[in-house]
Amino acid sequence: MTEATARLIDGKAVAAEIRAEIGRHVAAIMRDRAVPPGLAVILIGEDPASQVYVRSKEKLAGEAGFKSVVYRRPADTPEEALLTLIEGLNEDPTIHGILVQLPVPAQIDEAKIIEAISPEKDVDGFHPTNVGRLVAGQSALVPCTPLGCLTLLKRELGDLSGANAVVIGRSNIVGKPMASLLLRESCTVTTAHSRTRDLPDLCRRADILVPAIGKPRFVKGDWVKPGAAVIDVGINRVDAGRGDGSTRLVGDVDFDSAVKVAGVITPVPGGVGPMTIAMLLRNTLEAYCRINRIPFPMA
Ligand code: NDP
Repeated sequence: MTEATARLIDGKAVAAEIRAEIGRHVAAIMRDRAVPPGLAVILIGEDPASQVYVRSKEKLAGEAGFKSVVYRRPADTPEEALLTLIEGLNEDPTIHGILVQLPVPAQIDEAKIIEAISPEKDVDGFHPTNVGRLVAGQSALVPCTPLGCLTLLKRELGDLSGANAVVIGRSNIVGKPMASLLLRESCTVTTAHSRTRDLPDLCRRADILVPAIGKPRFVKGDWVKPGAAVIDVGINRVDAGRGDGSTRLVGDVDFDSAVKVAGVITPVPGGVGPMTIAMLLRNTLEAYCRINRIPFPMA
């Protein structure tokens, strides 16, 4: 007898489709307008992972027909200089999305920086105005990674209403907005975290399980309800086991055991990860449409 295996969600392919759709919308908009959607990314310091993300954002934004500008600043940049840069971008009519690559160096107050970005250009969805609007069920710019997770879930499952959803993690970037989005879809949502009691049992009741923890292969196959949708947000670098010091990426889910139980599952890499930039471009197009008072052409 062969073992049942979950259907894999190809986040890379979905993200490429969405980026192509965005590119088509931008081309159509540009038939009547001179200024394309503009995305400004600010990178402070030399963090190698951040540099890779920023290069990829710049490249994919350009491919979708956006104007894309990256402001690279040294690690010792004073907070005041960053605030002045953001003020200028808030006023710049060719920029519709502003993103400060996190984390920022210690001399810079992250919350202050996030609050300095105009909420209508806050394409990361971290500004308290957008956070509040999301929680209040109003239209908002929504954080990219959870929006990517929701997009995958809706494409796979359609209507999510009534589903039991368990989100593991309560960060402002992933866990909390993910829970708000699932609630907005009428799921019954539980947010778990490091103090949660009997996490395996809680997970076994989830029709939708979204681990966003940052611990390699933490969620085991026998925590997964048979047929559940598992969206693995975790990105963890581990030893590849080749004995040569090389590394590879794994998620927060023990994929090999979970794939035998789940109904659908995202792999790592190639699941949630590629969706994040696609959602950033989507948010920038949405911000552009709102600022220019034209209908946003995407769902
Ligand atoms: P944080 O470290 O900010 O949050 C981790 C959360 O996990 C916390 O709420 C913490 O609980 C919870 N947690 C830690 N240990 C346990 C445990 N033993 N049991 C239950 N919950 C636990 O991480 P992020 O939210 O920023 O990121 C989470 C993961 O997602 C990381 O692997 C990150 O790399 C990845 N990520 C992926 C992205 C993508 O594009 N695919 C984008 C962003 C993040 P508590 O609050 O109690 O401490």
